[in-house]
Amino acid sequence: MHTRWSDGSGTIAEMADAAKERSYSYIAITDHSKGLKIAGGIDEPTLKKQGVEIAKINTLSSNLGRLTVLRSIEMNLDPRGQGDMSPKSLSTLDLVLGAFHSSLRRLEDQTERYLAALRNPNIQILAHPRGRIYNYRVGLKADWPRVFAEAARLDKALEIDCYPDRQDLNVALLRIARTHRTRISLGTDAHHPWQLEFIELGLAAALLARIAPERIINFMPLADVKRWVKKVRDRGARER
Ligand SMILES: [Zn+2]
Repeated sequence: MHTRWSDGSGTIAEMADAAKERSYSYIAITDHSKGLKIAGGIDEPTLKKQGVEIAKINTLSSNLGRLTVLRSIEMNLDPRGQGDMSPKSLSTLDLVLGAFHSSLRRLEDQTERYLAALRNPNIQILAHPRGRIYNYRVGLKADWPRVFAEAARLDKALEIDCYPDRQDLNVALLRIARTHRTRISLGTDAHHPWQLEFIELGLAAALLARIAPERIINFMPLADVKRWVKKVRDRGARER
């Protein structure tokens, strides 16, 4: 449940078809937000337009069986954990991911950045947490037990980005997540329908780390995902 729209590589309808073939009951469309123009990041009006397209696809549900396409985004977070989209626009989405895309080569401990991101009331999932890319970037360092504990306290999820070059979180960090019972979300980072198969790398990592199935967002029925998002949002609004 994690795919792209803005770069035109796979259309939402193609992604939905591929998800249906895999017997998924839902898939989230998570384009980058406007701060990442270079990666086709979308702004609020474009996000709204995408929502209209998704609504259309969902009403053609006879073609899609029971598949629901969820409106989402991978919002760019700055090193202070702040996003680049209006909270009002984000509140219309089914699910919001946040992710760091800058200052990813810092060598010093980045725990404060992670805690700030998790406390951002507008996100529910922190995507590709370390920013690690095979043969390109080693990824950020942090006091991971503290990060996972804070995520668990806030009932937020950290992602396994299943893309082969990323595999972020990895098995070692997932083992720490398990001890804190932190929620985990699997995202393929798929830019093409065939890349949905990357999910197997994330599933393998979760199995190796013995993450409890009930802590994995993707295994939740859609109604439970919606209830969880609402709970996290309500809490964020209260604590603001
Ligand atoms: Zn990203």
